[in-house]
Amino acid sequence: MASEISTEEQTVSGTVSVLLPLALPRPYDYKVPSGMEVRPGDYVIVPLGSQQLLGVVWGAGTGEVGHNRLRPVAEVLDAPPMPEVLRRLVDWVASYTVSPPGSVLRLAIRAPGALEPQRMRTAYRLGDKRPSRMTPARIRAVEVAGDGFARTVRELAEEAGVSDGVVRGLVEAGTLVPVDVPTEAPFPAPNLDAPGVDLSEEQAEAAAALRAHVEADRFSAILLDGVTGSGKTEVYFEAVAAALRRNRQVLILLPEIALTSQFLERFERRFGCRPAEWHSDLSTRERRRVWRGVAEGRASVVVGARSALFLPFPDLGLIIVDEEHDAAFKQEDGVAYHARDMAVVRASLGKLPIILSSATPSLETVVNAEQGRYAQLRLEARHGAARLPDVTAIDMRADPPERGRWLSPVLVREIAKALEAGEQSMLFLNRRGYAPLTLCRTCGHRIECPQCSAWLVEHRFRRELACHHCGYSAPVPKACPSCGAEDSLVACGPGVERIAEEVAELFPEARTAIVSSDNLRGPAAHREVFRAIEEREVDIVIGTQIVAKGHHFPWLTLVGVVDADLGLENGDLRAGERTFQLLQQVAGRAGRAERPGRVFLQSFMPEHGVMRALVSGRRDEFLAREASARERVGLPPFGRLVGVVVSAPESGLAQRIAREMSRRVPRTDDVSVLGPAPAPLALLRGRTRLRFLVKAGRHVNIQNFIRAWLDDMKIPNAVRVSVDVDPYSFM
Ligand code: ADP
Ligand code: ZN
Repeated sequence: MASEISTEEQTVSGTVSVLLPLALPRPYDYKVPSGMEVRPGDYVIVPLGSQQLLGVVWGAGTGEVGHNRLRPVAEVLDAPPMPEVLRRLVDWVASYTVSPPGSVLRLAIRAPGALEPQRMRTAYRLGDKRPSRMTPARIRAVEVAGDGFARTVRELAEEAGVSDGVVRGLVEAGTLVPVDVPTEAPFPAPNLDAPGVDLSEEQAEAAAALRAHVEADRFSAILLDGVTGSGKTEVYFEAVAAALRRNRQVLILLPEIALTSQFLERFERRFGCRPAEWHSDLSTRERRRVWRGVAEGRASVVVGARSALFLPFPDLGLIIVDEEHDAAFKQEDGVAYHARDMAVVRASLGKLPIILSSATPSLETVVNAEQGRYAQLRLEARHGAARLPDVTAIDMRADPPERGRWLSPVLVREIAKALEAGEQSMLFLNRRGYAPLTLCRTCGHRIECPQCSAWLVEHRFRRELACHHCGYSAPVPKACPSCGAEDSLVACGPGVERIAEEVAELFPEARTAIVSSDNLRGPAAHREVFRAIEEREVDIVIGTQIVAKGHHFPWLTLVGVVDADLGLENGDLRAGERTFQLLQQVAGRAGRAERPGRVFLQSFMPEHGVMRALVSGRRDEFLAREASARERVGLPPFGRLVGVVVSAPESGLAQRIAREMSRRVPRTDDVSVLGPAPAPLALLRGRTRLRFLVKAGRHVNIQNFIRAWLDDMKIPNAVRVSVDVDPYSFM
């Protein structure tokens, strides 16, 4: 066990402060009844009003309320106490994101039933006594039980091919003795002796450096920067093995659940067993099992989405953030935290190494590496014969598609060539559905969501119009809802379904698959489509960003980006960086095995810096230009931003509160507050939204500023003020 929990042994007597998983400003004091032992981190049941709530002992009582007026702790639960380092992380995240600590605590205790003791069942194993009377059936049962494993009556009867009665007879005779065994599956131990792949010289050097970081047993952050297919995963597996050899736990964060199944298989090939998984798609039972396994140190490796960061690891020795640049690590609702950044904090609090892995690292991380805060390891070559694909921009002004089509003749020819050669193609368009906008030809009316300031997206397969912001949907109307003209509505622009329609017309023989969240429900559907692609049962894949990330498709040689300019339209500060990352990741799907890959970007602005960087492959130059542009205007990572959104069901109310907030902005020279202005999504789920943007230099404590500004504001119940430190969304 790490030294961080040695203080846990002290018990607190008298009073304790207990943090509850509620949006309260601080922990509350309770008294400890005599005879009850309570340690910091213990999970306890305490009264609040008329309720009994689960909370965590945060420390000694503050003494703010007189002892005789305190209510007692009702119960201490039988679970390992929350490690001190996790309690500190909860406080840290709360303070950084300007959220109530209880709201962060809620992220750390989201495993229903995990705090109840595990249910046991009775099984039987062979004892020393033998029955006086042996029958052939009894002999068979004794033989099977002879391996020493405990089995239930049913299991033993089945395996020995005898009746339950025979087994019960042996129990009565005392030949089989009862033992309690857990109902839950154990966590298998990874096989550390299995040989990994033969690493290339470049890979071996990086692996050795990572091992050294793991063995140094102190905080370090390492950027593992290597082109797609360079073997980053194989390399960091060596660091995983090194941490496991030291009997430490390992956390691997992935940006999307969709990536876990391929990852689990890969891990199993390397280590002979699957790691524990943690994400929102797990059953309650499985969450319980994993949470408990982590808390008791039995689960040694956890692969999970961002919330896995708040699991109660008692002895974490390594964190890996794969695809560290991915915006999916940023949680937007509730506590707005960036799991990559908070993972670095977790590593620093726990004094352990963290590896940030990416082929297209974020500007934040690159700047941290350049300024020496992070170490950097590079992998320059793709593994084996695989080469990086050739990237070409198609100038859509010079080679436009036919009217009403979206694929330029150049790209169509390339797809035909790939088909002829028996190779796979992928068309990438980060837009779900059939068409992003439905317009009336007669009056020009655009069909909008009744609850959001957003167009409804046509989903032709489902025959409906849907809002991608609130989930509203309605059948496609026959007549224009505004002027009543019949047969006058037209679909404008393409989504993946429309591209699939065009492909079906152009290549009727080709086997196609649409890969988008609308077409794949649940992890099983994901697994199936990725399996079909890997096994070459699909000729042309048409997909949204789901296909961009992490997957390894050995037969894919051609990637066509239908609209490379798409991400540049929204003018937020990371538009260029994120478009570059996304398209580079998509491009990285091509030519990952022996056959070389080709990538075509359809663009109306091939001269744009992002397109030029993709075509030339000069990532570092591009990032350096982005960095200096941001530095000039003091934008992240060279300055700090906080988004503050005020929303209310009535626009008058939202405006009144926003004006009031505006009047109360503390005066200081280091911070500027822009707004309030209507948010780009001015209406969302029926609520009017106004935005402030707070801007400050890097060394300003912007959280203190926000607290000074907002803490004393009286906010009516109908109004929500949400604070987003380091915002990634400016909608
Ligand atoms: P990245 O994570 O950088 O995209 P991967 O680790 O997924 O790269 O490697 C790409 C592919 O090449 C995988 O199938 C991987 O197993 C294989 N690979 C990488 N390095 C080696 C190696 N040294 N020997 C054998 N296969 C390797
Ligand atoms: Zn809507």
